[in-house]
Amino acid sequence: MNTPEYHLYIAGEWVPGVSARPNVNPSDTSDVIGLYAQADAELARRAIAAAARARPAWAASTPQQRFDVLDAVGNELLARKEEIGRMLSREEGKTLPEGMGEVARAAMIFKFFAGEALRTPGDLLPSVRPNVGVEVFRQPVGTVGLITPWNFPIAIPAWKIAPALAYGNTVVFKPAELVPGSAWLLAEILSRTALPKGAFNLVMGAGSAVGQAFVDSPEVQAISFTGSVATGRRIIAGATARGAKVQCEMGGKNPLVVLDDANLEQAVETAVQGSYFSTGQRCTASSKLIVAAGIHDRFVQAMRERMARLNVGHALRAGVDIGPVVDERQLAQNLSYLDIARREGAQAIIGGETLERDTVGYFQAPALVTGTEPGMRINREEVFGPVASVLRARDYDEALHLANDTEFGLASGICTTSLKYATHFRQHAQAGMVMVNLPTAGVDYHVPFGGTKASSYGPREQGRHAAEFYTTVKTAYIAS
Ligand code: ADP
Repeated sequence: MNTPEYHLYIAGEWVPGVSARPNVNPSDTSDVIGLYAQADAELARRAIAAAARARPAWAASTPQQRFDVLDAVGNELLARKEEIGRMLSREEGKTLPEGMGEVARAAMIFKFFAGEALRTPGDLLPSVRPNVGVEVFRQPVGTVGLITPWNFPIAIPAWKIAPALAYGNTVVFKPAELVPGSAWLLAEILSRTALPKGAFNLVMGAGSAVGQAFVDSPEVQAISFTGSVATGRRIIAGATARGAKVQCEMGGKNPLVVLDDANLEQAVETAVQGSYFSTGQRCTASSKLIVAAGIHDRFVQAMRERMARLNVGHALRAGVDIGPVVDERQLAQNLSYLDIARREGAQAIIGGETLERDTVGYFQAPALVTGTEPGMRINREEVFGPVASVLRARDYDEALHLANDTEFGLASGICTTSLKYATHFRQHAQAGMVMVNLPTAGVDYHVPFGGTKASSYGPREQGRHAAEFYTTVKTAYIAS
């Protein structure tokens, strides 16, 4: 069978790239989903120029026109949830229910921002001077460059593209190299809307070529990036140096505290979901479990029993709880962190071995590293796989200290039945998102998403706060 080929979308046309890259299924490496066109810096610049030309037309669109475009995209995503979810699971490796859930979430994000296009906020104030009025209103930033990672192939593109368009910006979008399939389907849907030619462009390709072109081009007024800390810092340095607006979501080392008074069964479920679902490949995954001494041994034993019941396998098969790791490089990274933990003196590792299935893929049993110390690399660096470590804490105060003892600050969670500790933790956990008796991963689509410390840079994404990044404020005075 011929492998299908997919093109770039630039200035309202489908165009070939300078080369094509195979999209390989991590559950079955003999399954090549398609060949996806790769842009170089020159093609990226063509897309940026097209987006720049489209700015006046889209900035002049009415809220109703923006609503109609975004709402139509949301409706089509919902109607094709199973088909697109299947593509997502096939290329990324999360299970089919997770893949379909992610498409539904992307749909709701488009529908939410369709509504926001009608509700763009502004202020009307009396001036301090007589007979003068002051109006504060929001305008588009211009052309925005959107760079996304592989772990949420459609939700993260949605939560950048939808607000960008809702507030009247034009878009150049670069999905991650590993997952162009869902992004291409989303672009195809956008290509059939009433957007002016060039208002939305899809440029697949290497970060070093296409992403770097976004960073370097003066026609890109703002860049929203989600990915690794190293790349994020490079983008911040490069783009802010030329005065562009930058928003970055980067790493996490998200703690989950389990106190002695926690409901054990609920705590185990919260940890398993937060640490291992979606193969642990979430920036909000709980990777550092801080367990109070009185419940520690019971918790570890219950985790061992629960982990033994997790079914790891082909992402598209029914009954599978955890799909494969995304690729060989990520699997090697997961295994190397387990080796490092062993060498640094961790007491034991439950699970973590690679698994053979009837297809060739990157299957790994979830791993729990016990008996660790705060300074070990497993407790300080982001692994980005189905790997969690356990730290023992004397009491709540030490648990809170250990939770905050990290350069990152994305999500932080606690399992407790104590109102006093839950309330204190919500106030004092150093993170952008705090969860009580809920997994650190798994967030709503209509409220802000983002972190503190080294996890994030710039204004928050999602919800009404997205306007901070995707608009610029104008203050208009008028004398009567
Ligand atoms: P990951 O570990 O998820 O691959 P990266 O930060 O390398 O994290 O990738 C996230 C996104 O950033 C991808 O779309 C990637 O292509 C892009 N990217 C990588 N290098 C650069 C760069 N120098 N400039 C802009 N974007 C880049």
